Amino acid sequence: MPRAEDGDRAELASGGARDSRRVIAHADMDAFYASVEMLDNPELRGRPVIVGGGSNRGVVSSASYEARHFGVRSAMPTVEARRLCPEGVFVRGRMDRYAEISRRIREIFLSFSPIVEPLSLDEAFIDLTGTERLLGEPLEAARALKRRVLEGTGLVASIGVAPVKMAAKILSDMSKPDGLLAIGPEHLREFLDPLPVERLWGVGSVTLERMHRAGIRLIGDLARRDAGELRSLFGSFGPQLRELALGRDPRPVIADWERKSYGEENTFERDLEAGSDELARALIAHAEALGRRLRADRVAARTITLKLKLARPLGGGRYPLLTRSLSLDAPTDDGAAIMRAVRSLLARAANGEKIRLAGVQAHNLERSDPRQLGLFDPAAANSAARNVRLNRALDAVTRRFGEDAVTRGLAHAERAAPTHRIK
Ligand SMILES: [Mg+2]
Repeated sequence: MPRAEDGDRAELASGGARDSRRVIAHADMDAFYASVEMLDNPELRGRPVIVGGGSNRGVVSSASYEARHFGVRSAMPTVEARRLCPEGVFVRGRMDRYAEISRRIREIFLSFSPIVEPLSLDEAFIDLTGTERLLGEPLEAARALKRRVLEGTGLVASIGVAPVKMAAKILSDMSKPDGLLAIGPEHLREFLDPLPVERLWGVGSVTLERMHRAGIRLIGDLARRDAGELRSLFGSFGPQLRELALGRDPRPVIADWERKSYGEENTFERDLEAGSDELARALIAHAEALGRRLRADRVAARTITLKLKLARPLGGGRYPLLTRSLSLDAPTDDGAAIMRAVRSLLARAANGEKIRLAGVQAHNLERSDPRQLGLFDPAAANSAARNVRLNRALDAVTRRFGEDAVTRGLAHAERAAPTHRIK
């Protein structure tokens, strides 16, 4: 057996062990928009409801199961849907209402796990790893999740549970309507092998046709092919697909708040010197505003970015944009710590330049846990605790008297301009 194969196997073993500890749920609402319409208009219940553009040129965005009996599907031209289902109830969508219910569903998901990755208004991955003690076995937790969604919204979710994302999504889809399917790591391969290969993410019609020509119809066919052969057939995509076929999908569930970044910026009424107090004041205001927002959302940032637009016109109304980032030793939600990072970035960034716009961004977020601050260093713990107390006091004053009530760092500081949220 070639050496590469051995390496492969070792990876499979460790990947398997890692995956076997993961419990990932994929929840997807059944016929979401159409179901919301039936929820709000009881006279529509049991009828073929089709949500789509009002005109005949639109496409179907959601069809009730009654409409699906007539062959109506999402993304089908409305004209065709009318032909297939003349007695259908055609409804124009109400996105605001769907978004409102989506938020309620999201809240329910978040009550099961802090790690929820929404894919759309009605669909999300929920990482249930390690919740067994709190929520019971994965299947029990998923049942409770279904029940809570129904109680909280009157709508039905279908759920798949698996050790990897890809399989969880396939399962929720197969379980529809009103379904729940769960699979453990020991049965993952048995489950995947007999499925058509187009069930894998990323297998579009072009790839599928080439797979069929190479005699690959099932996920199991792909899993049994040699990685080198697949590379020569499909390029680097081939071995990647084979990994999925083998049930190896290391992609983590990424919570909304991890992906997010926070930013504050403003354009000045007149250009400011890079070394001026006015610029420093504006940046302090941004840093403090960021700190407040991070604390309010209970996250902390590991990376701080300074964004400057220089006042040298490039022509066509454009100006040079300069961004500089710094990774901190520890994540922070403290405006003063953010400002220290900004100062060191500023010192390296724009000597002698005039500045038109200045902004500060925070990324690379983590859930903040005040109890973990300066755990090992008593002096740091003291100053961290003092900072936490100070920030709490600042936040309370700001809540009462508004953002302009507190500014730290420069005495008699004035805001150069109101800071502006960009995210
Ligand atoms: Mg759905």
